[in-house]
Amino acid sequence: MTSLKKSLRAKFTLILLFVGILPLAVASAFFYHSAKDSLFQNVFKELKWNLEEISGVVEGYFAETGKDILTASRNTAFPMYYLDPPRKQYWLKEQHKTLQYLRGIYPDMLDEACFIDASGKEVSRIVFDQLAHEHDLSSDEARNRFFQEAFKLSEGQVYQGRPVISQDTHRWVLPNATPIAVNGKNMAILHFEVTMDHFQKLLKKLVNPDRGFGLILDGDGLILAHSRLDISETEPFPPAVTDKTPGDLKAIYSRMIKGDSGMESFWQGGKEHFMIFRPLKLSGINGRNDNSWSIAYVIPSERVYVELDILRYNIAVLLATVALSILLSYIMGNYLTRPITNLASATNKVAAGEMPNIEVDREDELGTLSSSFNVMVESIKRRDDALKALAITDGLTGLYNYRYFRSELEKEVKSSHRFSRPLSLIMADVDYFKNYNDRNGHAQGDMALKKVAEVLSKAVREVDLCARYGGEEFVVILPETTLEVALNVAERIRRKFEEEEFAYEELQPGGKLTLSLGVATLPADANEAQELVEAADRALYKAKENGRNQVWPSGC
Ligand code: GH3
Ligand code: MG
Ligand code: MG
Repeated sequence: MTSLKKSLRAKFTLILLFVGILPLAVASAFFYHSAKDSLFQNVFKELKWNLEEISGVVEGYFAETGKDILTASRNTAFPMYYLDPPRKQYWLKEQHKTLQYLRGIYPDMLDEACFIDASGKEVSRIVFDQLAHEHDLSSDEARNRFFQEAFKLSEGQVYQGRPVISQDTHRWVLPNATPIAVNGKNMAILHFEVTMDHFQKLLKKLVNPDRGFGLILDGDGLILAHSRLDISETEPFPPAVTDKTPGDLKAIYSRMIKGDSGMESFWQGGKEHFMIFRPLKLSGINGRNDNSWSIAYVIPSERVYVELDILRYNIAVLLATVALSILLSYIMGNYLTRPITNLASATNKVAAGEMPNIEVDREDELGTLSSSFNVMVESIKRRDDALKALAITDGLTGLYNYRYFRSELEKEVKSSHRFSRPLSLIMADVDYFKNYNDRNGHAQGDMALKKVAEVLSKAVREVDLCARYGGEEFVVILPETTLEVALNVAERIRRKFEEEEFAYEELQPGGKLTLSLGVATLPADANEAQELVEAADRALYKAKENGRNQVWPSGC
């Protein structure tokens, strides 16, 4: 939080985040969800449409077989068999033709068709294309359910029974039967069986295997047909619910068995599935249908998500692009704010007494600011140096002042001890200066003091240090200098000063403005700075005592 408060860059990045990523993420989430919703709706609409289409075919099939058996039953060959006994054989042949006609309508599906009289005796029969011989005809059909149910119906009505195993072909078939009435009385039935396998083929044909699978369930919860499983033509139908069936799917199956319709989802094998289901309307015929079937279409949700994945991918690319631009903005922000950061840290350094210089590597406004900063630092530096110089300089003579002299003398004494080298100190005082001042005025006296400074500076080496000790007294520090050499230097100074001409100096005692000088050396005369000063001062006193305008060594 603190860094956010302090960092412009962090603020920029945060703004970018709010202005860029956040709205985009919200918009993407919104688009994703609305696209997902509409995609799901489309898929479900398509599913529903597919289910309706398949259901229509199955329901139409029952209506068709009902209609076909009714059409066949209206053939006069059946009643005439009773009404015209002398020509029974003729009508029998006509019956055969009708049975063959039925077989022609359902060449792959019709297993058996027969005409059975009221006693349950088959009068004529065809199995596949094979017409039965008289001695092969069965006489106990009356025990069959289709026989009993069909006899209860009126002429023009059809009975459609539940799947049974065909007595002749031993596979699952659907029985259709209708009564044949003579003078309003049921005399016989016409019956034909079509294979259940037909529905299996139908589902396999109509359900897109890439999409999912379809199944038909009967009222007992048995799978009659399945687009993916191979339902045996002769074995009992498998139950939809097994030990492995997940609970939510079980619940859907029970709803189907109850005759509900709807759309539900369930989880199987770790995947979500959508299931749309509805009961089949099989009562399209006039008569009776014992079947209560339900049909379902199932698709795994990943089929829907495949299309969503493309959308997700597009959104990911979009977000990655924005993230990249934010990264670039961050780098740009970094580039922009770096000089500001540099300036801030350089300013702190200035406050701490340093005089840093900022590298200027650009020409924009921030570059100009950095250059201005450097100019400012330079000017501060110059003023700082001037102030420092002022602090150690004597205002009148331009020589070092007393304070600086003392600090430098301390240093030189230390280094003299450390390296065991001699150190000399000359102390000079203008003779009868009070007199000169009194006679000629202070301004003239000041000029003389300036001249002393000039003579001192010219007479010494660069490593020597000249300072104004106070009033008309001056000192010279001579590092690594013996007493002998220092006396020479002092003598040179004395002589030079004596040689200088001063206004009205003739009125001075001796007719000249002169200097007296005392010289002391370390370690011979002193151990410490103060002692050295005192020794030089004593020597100077001696020089004055002995008549002035002379050099006097310490210790004499
Ligand atoms: P001696 O030879 O014993 O040194 O005699 P003196 O007169 O030079 O010594 P004294 O200490 O009596 O006088 C020093 C004089 O120096 C007193 C003062 O007026 C003068 N003086 C001190 N500082 C300055 C200055 O800055 N300018 C001027 N013009 N005169 C100064
Ligand atoms: Mg004096
Ligand atoms: Mg004096």
